[in-house]
Amino acid sequence: MEGAKQAIFEYCRKHGALAAGVADLAACERIAPPGHRPRDLFPRVKSVISLGVGGQTQGAWQLPAKAMAYSGSTEARAYKIAYGLAFFIEHKFGAPSVYVPPDMDPEAGPRVPLQSLKLHAELAGIGARSLAGDILLHPQFGFMYYASVYTELELEPDAPMQDNPCPAPSCVNLYRQTGRTPCMKFCPAQCLSGEVDAEGRQKMMRYDMAACAEFTQQYEAVPKILAEAVADEVRSAGGERLLDPDTKMLWYKVSAGSGAWFAQCFECMRVCPIATRAPQADPILRRKA
Ligand code: SF4
Ligand code: SF4
Repeated sequence: MEGAKQAIFEYCRKHGALAAGVADLAACERIAPPGHRPRDLFPRVKSVISLGVGGQTQGAWQLPAKAMAYSGSTEARAYKIAYGLAFFIEHKFGAPSVYVPPDMDPEAGPRVPLQSLKLHAELAGIGARSLAGDILLHPQFGFMYYASVYTELELEPDAPMQDNPCPAPSCVNLYRQTGRTPCMKFCPAQCLSGEVDAEGRQKMMRYDMAACAEFTQQYEAVPKILAEAVADEVRSAGGERLLDPDTKMLWYKVSAGSGAWFAQCFECMRVCPIATRAPQADPILRRKA
């Protein structure tokens, strides 16, 4: 249904997505681990749609790490588009559809998602795995946030990107000189390492997720506040901490969908030429294109 695919992509673009694609369902089922495959969540799924929205504005890259979790993230916009898209497909094509929850699997712990939105985006050809802990990058749009929709509508799948924009030529140069790319060099937790081959392509990527999580949890405002309150020696004072005006503001932001439950420190992306300087990573350039 080529016409349906065009209408779906048009909906995504009109509502603010920079890129959209359809992932190969058979590949998703093969690669995702049992319990986290599309059919585990939506048994009659026929197509997996992935969309991406722009990440940081150019100005946001200047913020300190502690503020990035609030100002840099636009994943909520991606989720909103996917939520609307599921209704759009049901209304226009009569095919049951669902916005794929981006949330963690409550049975599998705090770092295991119900579904890998990253895998969907990669297979749909709208992002490629980088040397910075597999963060997806796009040659035109740089760093994006992704969301997915499952639908019973049959759509022709797209192919993954043929060329990975990571490492960028300047990163290869730095690697040749120092043995490290910018993301590896400037990661404050030193949790990234890898190898670039003779052709300047990724040969191996190592990411110590536990070290990244341990370092960046200082920016996870809500768990931090709860931990401080619980650790308070005077129990009543702990309760007050949860209700003081600053914390109340955070609860408000969380309920409005702008919290800081999870965080990264963003230093690997702040120094990444693809994330920050891809041709259309800058919203002003995008507008001109
Ligand atoms: S988010 Fe921070 S700690 Fe994690 S890989 Fe990137 S630079 Fe390193
Ligand atoms: S800085 Fe960006 S482009 Fe360069 S190696 Fe790291 S992730 Fe890849």
